[in-house]
Amino acid sequence: MPLLDAVPALRADLLAWWQANGRHWIPWKLGPDGHPPGAGESLDPWPIWSAEIMLQQTQLQVVLPYWRRWIEAFPTAAALAAASEHEVLMRWQGLGYYARARRLHHGARQLLDQPWPRTVEGWLAIPGVGRSTAGSILSSAFDLPHPILDGNVKRVLTRLTASPRPPARDAAGLWLLSTALLDPHRPRAFNQALMDLGSGVCTPRNPSCGVCPWQGHCAAYAAGDPHRYPVKEAPRELPFQVIGVGVVFNDAGQVLIDQRLNEGLLGGLWEFPGGKQEPGEAIETTIVRELREELAIEAQVGEQLITVDHAYSHKKLRFVVHLCQWQRGEPQPLASQQVRWVAPVELETYPFPAANARIIAALLAHLQSQASADQAA
Ligand code: SF4
Repeated sequence: MPLLDAVPALRADLLAWWQANGRHWIPWKLGPDGHPPGAGESLDPWPIWSAEIMLQQTQLQVVLPYWRRWIEAFPTAAALAAASEHEVLMRWQGLGYYARARRLHHGARQLLDQPWPRTVEGWLAIPGVGRSTAGSILSSAFDLPHPILDGNVKRVLTRLTASPRPPARDAAGLWLLSTALLDPHRPRAFNQALMDLGSGVCTPRNPSCGVCPWQGHCAAYAAGDPHRYPVKEAPRELPFQVIGVGVVFNDAGQVLIDQRLNEGLLGGLWEFPGGKQEPGEAIETTIVRELREELAIEAQVGEQLITVDHAYSHKKLRFVVHLCQWQRGEPQPLASQQVRWVAPVELETYPFPAANARIIAALLAHLQSQASADQAA
């Protein structure tokens, strides 16, 4: 039977499976009474929007405790809008991809005193919200019939159809299929069921086809090889860069940190100064050069503190971190928003990228062992 002819059966089978097996406990999908809302009832979009943005690059189980703390700190979009960027980044610390926090912050300010958007276009005007996030918010909050196409859904649909193309090359076809399958009478339940199927049954590895409500219609199952789908793009080698980093002390025992410009993945976060090693350059030379170019200071590079490898989705970085002693020059924010001398114990009150958290831990351990050695001497 052609797949589109099977749509009524696919909807009914999925919803029946979901009724018994769905994740009916996800906290931002519950009403104020702690129960899932009935058909057509509305939920507060703010906790849903926050969760959707967190889930864009992070797994549900990791998101849950962050989301709880976030909603406690910012129970409404207006509360987030009123917060400083420093506070917002601190609350997001540990989740990574900080641009998401800044976009939520900007979005909350943009929506201040406005009614919640009830259209895809309305949500697309908010920073950080794409078509699938918009569909998910509208269906989850207002039970409106808008399709979704997140990673889980792409996997299920490419398997259902045994699509020969990687999902990124077939976005239009997958959107059409998600739209055709969506149950217009129960969009909230249907979209959630589709996500739950992808998360718990049609998993990336070892899908549980034996308990899948769509097994009888699934082309990948019929072909005997669900693992082949989604078809992958040819892997590409991630670029690798070495970053020389200086933990620069002044005579008062403070260290120098700078706040990144607001653009980019880590915009607005604080970090230790440093930059890319040039070909053939000794790492000590890199650090001296970067301190000169970015802060207009001269410093003496001392012993290595730590090396930290960190992989982002688009590149791999190795941070080679040296302790340095400031010699001369008032630090200038030539490539950052601002620079600051801070006591090492204060570092934990600033939002840093994940890779810098290990540098701070190594620094505090180093200072601790130095203090113990001084005491013993
Ligand atoms: S039958 Fe298997 S591969 Fe097909 S949708 Fe279900 S779990 Fe996924």
